[in-house]
Amino acid sequence: MTTEELRESLLAAPKNGFARISAEERAEMEGYCKRYMAFMDAAKTEREATTWAIAEAEKYGFKPFVPGMDIKPGDKIYYNNRDKAIALAVIGTESLAQGANICAAHVDSPRMDLKPNPLYEEAEIAYFKTHYYGGIKKYQWVTVPLALHGVVYRKDGSIVTVTVGEDENDPILMVSDLLPHLAADQMQKTAGKVIAAEQLNVILGTEPIEGEGSDLVKLNVMKWLNEKYGLIESDFLSAELAIVPAGRSREVGFDRSLISAYGHDDRVCAYAELEALFTIPTPKKTAVCILADKEEIGSVGISGMQSQYFEHFMGGLCDAQGVKLYDCFANSFCLSADVSNAFDPNFAETCDKRNNSFLNYGVAICKYTGSRGKGGASDASAEAMGHIRTTFDNAGVIWQIATLGKVDQGGGGTVAAYMANRNIVTVDAGVPVLNMHAPLELVSKLDCYETMLACKAIYLA
Ligand code: MN
Ligand code: MN
Repeated sequence: MTTEELRESLLAAPKNGFARISAEERAEMEGYCKRYMAFMDAAKTEREATTWAIAEAEKYGFKPFVPGMDIKPGDKIYYNNRDKAIALAVIGTESLAQGANICAAHVDSPRMDLKPNPLYEEAEIAYFKTHYYGGIKKYQWVTVPLALHGVVYRKDGSIVTVTVGEDENDPILMVSDLLPHLAADQMQKTAGKVIAAEQLNVILGTEPIEGEGSDLVKLNVMKWLNEKYGLIESDFLSAELAIVPAGRSREVGFDRSLISAYGHDDRVCAYAELEALFTIPTPKKTAVCILADKEEIGSVGISGMQSQYFEHFMGGLCDAQGVKLYDCFANSFCLSADVSNAFDPNFAETCDKRNNSFLNYGVAICKYTGSRGKGGASDASAEAMGHIRTTFDNAGVIWQIATLGKVDQGGGGTVAAYMANRNIVTVDAGVPVLNMHAPLELVSKLDCYETMLACKAIYLA
């Protein structure tokens, strides 16, 4: 053999995905990304994503899960976890005793939640106090257009859905920053302290209502909220209201190869899972799609991936087939579909370039996450990595390897550990993202599309 032949046969030679996809695939990719962007504009919170998923699933014939229900191959069932998370299944031709093929993403994203008593007035400006949710660089959330999304359980027991800042004619909201002229002290602070958590106060209005008192601007804001949504101040206690970046997803770059949006992490994988599930034929093994809440704060709570709601759903399906849930889990496979950090040449020193994911190299498989000496990681086995690699290769999915930055540089986690704790073989894989957890994140269209194909390959494995 010549050196060239040896090199070709022995060494890995990753190629940019654009050199590997056909014109037809590119056209499909563009169509897929248009649908993804429409989803992103409709779903900025876990609730909105769950609502969207249910409406869409019902169009495809999915029915709500009812304990004790009969199931047969081809049945499409969903479990709505309190409007904040959802699991969907397409029943396979094999028994659940043979296991299920699961894809698990999350639909919550970093943001600023309103505090229980948020509304106040200071210097004749009305504000909301916020409490940030998930890992954010606080300085990124000032002077950007913001919107209010959420639900309020009113005193009279009715629920009202609130959205302000998304319609072109809506006002937006904003957190102020200090002018550079007076920032001598601020500029000496470390980035973590440039904007303090208690400075993430959102401006709501400045016009006082007529009358006497020190709360005339606040009162005017409350009057507006009452006229529009029927709210009184104490209703904030029984509310889940979030401040998120206002505006729509956009194509980025002269070549339009990237997409900018709020919350690609992890709705980019959630959407991939959903569209894949909606378009597969009846699978051999039951295909399960999970859109979890609370991943950004540790997958805790009733709507997070540590919640027993998943056992309730899968146990119910197993009961219908006379199968033990433990047997089903023991034979299942889970793709923990979550984003990775795309290599950013601006911050090359934070990554091991030989083991990082790159834009346009396809869905990024991450053997382990965690931090330091793999602390907190669900470290996938050789067998699990072999299974996913073969599955992707057989389906023609463009994939690459990912690790989360240089060792000892930081780290992170996903729902993988909680799925693996259930005795389910689990591997992380997802879309590489630039500026993850910033108000606007970037992904490549090609990677989005390949991640949908990856989910489809897992469901049909
Ligand atoms: Mn994530
Ligand atoms: Mn995240």
